[in-house]
Amino acid sequence: MKKKYIISFLFVLAMILFSGKVFGFTVVIDPGHGGTESGAVAQGGELEKDLNLKIARYLRDYLSDYDVTVYMTHDGLSGRDLEIFDRAIFAREKKADLVLSIHLNSLDSGTANGAEVWVTANTSLDKYNKNMTAFGNKVLSNLGRLGIANRGVKTSLRSDTTDVYSDGTRADYYGIICYCMRGCKIDDGDISPAGAVPAKVEAGEGVPAAIIEHCFLKGSDYKFIDSDADLKKLAEADGKAVVDQFGLKKKKQKGNTPFNDIYIDDWYHDAVKYTYDNGIISGYNSTTFAPEDNLTRAMLVTILHRMEGQPYVSGVSKFPDVQDTTKYYYVAVKWATKHGIVHGNDAGNFEPDRAITREELAVILKQYTEYKGKYKKQTVNLSKFKDANQILPFAKTGMEWAVGVRVIEGTNENTIKPQATATRAEVAAMLYKYCTRVK
Ligand SMILES: [Zn+2]
Repeated sequence: MKKKYIISFLFVLAMILFSGKVFGFTVVIDPGHGGTESGAVAQGGELEKDLNLKIARYLRDYLSDYDVTVYMTHDGLSGRDLEIFDRAIFAREKKADLVLSIHLNSLDSGTANGAEVWVTANTSLDKYNKNMTAFGNKVLSNLGRLGIANRGVKTSLRSDTTDVYSDGTRADYYGIICYCMRGCKIDDGDISPAGAVPAKVEAGEGVPAAIIEHCFLKGSDYKFIDSDADLKKLAEADGKAVVDQFGLKKKKQKGNTPFNDIYIDDWYHDAVKYTYDNGIISGYNSTTFAPEDNLTRAMLVTILHRMEGQPYVSGVSKFPDVQDTTKYYYVAVKWATKHGIVHGNDAGNFEPDRAITREELAVILKQYTEYKGKYKKQTVNLSKFKDANQILPFAKTGMEWAVGVRVIEGTNENTIKPQATATRAEVAAMLYKYCTRVK
């Protein structure tokens, strides 16, 4: 194992032991009601608990594309109920970063429409009222795009003024929000039994929860919940808001190569695939490509030699630092020297184990192209790159050629980083461009 892998492995291990959980964001989805508790009844006779569960499952599916751990407090309940505090304890045991309680709204009488989100009133940490209000507003604006009216992000406090969190602020009214905020163990779900010391939240331990009332079960809102496709849209509105507010990244998807460290969205994916498929660059082993590792001068010459079918070259190497005939690159260096593809440094050494710089790579590729009889001089004004003055004189023609034939492109609009060492991914990209652009 390479040193840097060992270090990062130890780091991850330490973080797991320290935090008690794996890195990343954890969401607990709580489908409202369930079991014998049906919630309200929709216009078409559907039970709220069933609709909530469908939305929750769609939300779980939506989030499964992202780098987030998702739990549901339940996935359908038969013959038993789940108390509100059981849901909160579950979320706290999972060390959730966010709890979403999924509901649909109802009125005992009359009609109403629109969506509302309930969050904690506690402002002791940004992750409570501030972030949850911002999150709630995102949910509401996403639901608004579906045509659902915005009733706002709301808070509500318990009427018992002695029921407070540890910072002295009043406890939230809704059970799921309040219990999730409590940092202590909840034994019976009774927040403030008569005569007892109220349970208090330990600073910073509370889990922020939101109750999302997506729309009303009856009246003009019914059209937003009368099909599975509609329920899925509600879940997507929630999911997009989670992704947006908490900066979730899409899960990395393994690429079309045998390497576990090459992902489909990596900018160098196609280059690594091409160079691997064509036998130009192999991995460190059958499953590791190590795209961010540097490539040495010896490795590059070995790659070019391989592209030529590894022709044998007799004689001895002229470089004092390339004399060990058992080295994997010995014949390749002799081959490259013979054809003027590489030259030594001022001291006459080849420096096989030194990481290659981007400008050296350009020069060697240019000389390889000359050897192949494909070289055409390029007149390119490199001064559009603000670090063009860092190009050493020996590399100027090589860089002009590489930029002209688009084997090297700037690292961004303005720089070309001639002295930066080239990573294995960058070399793969340059050789891919070379093979497909230099005819
Ligand atoms: Zn409900």
